[in-house]
Amino acid sequence: MKICFATNNTYKIKEIQSLLGDSFEIRSLAEIGCEETLPETQPTIGGNSLQKAQYVWEHYQVDCFADDTGLEVEALNQAPGVYSGRYAGEPRSDERNLQLLLKNLSTATHRKARFITWITLIIAGQVHQFEGVVNGEITQSPKGEEGFGYDPVFQPLGFDKTFGEMTLQEKNKVSHRARAFQKLIEFLRKSM
Ligand code: IMP
Repeated sequence: MKICFATNNTYKIKEIQSLLGDSFEIRSLAEIGCEETLPETQPTIGGNSLQKAQYVWEHYQVDCFADDTGLEVEALNQAPGVYSGRYAGEPRSDERNLQLLLKNLSTATHRKARFITWITLIIAGQVHQFEGVVNGEITQSPKGEEGFGYDPVFQPLGFDKTFGEMTLQEKNKVSHRARAFQKLIEFLRKSM
């Protein structure tokens, strides 16, 4: 079965393809001929994943899924949330986002946070959504060189190291995206 993952992030495509096996052929946006930037203008993470999947379905009529992720920090009223990718403005920069987050939390002792990923799947025109969450806290300073984005300052609950100090395999056992992907995979396997 062919299905489009509404991304051009080859890392994410490889990850899900390896988890799904040969019964599914994952195609990127480029592979379905979609060169344009997908709209992401909704006020929620779930809304943005739905908007991206709907765009692909409406313009290309292929079964597809889209993901969207945000970091929600309790002391900042759940910010940066849906704005995680552009927290420090345009052009997007993981490093500037991370530094702004630490600055905004410089006096905060309560540092609880969570990552949340939403995946929207549209298959035969039907919409299905899956969510993955990991709870943790924001460290005082960046630790580790692994991963990307806010990984060096996010320490998942029950661990004494940040995502930035974990191998991808360690991170995948608990991460928000891995948990959401797992739900998607179970659904796709059952629908075969
Ligand atoms: P996206 O929806 O996957 O593009 O993620 C939005 C933003 O959240 C990215 O620009 C990253 O800064 C951040 N982000 C997403 N996933 C992760 C992660 O697994 N670790 C750290 N930061 C992440």
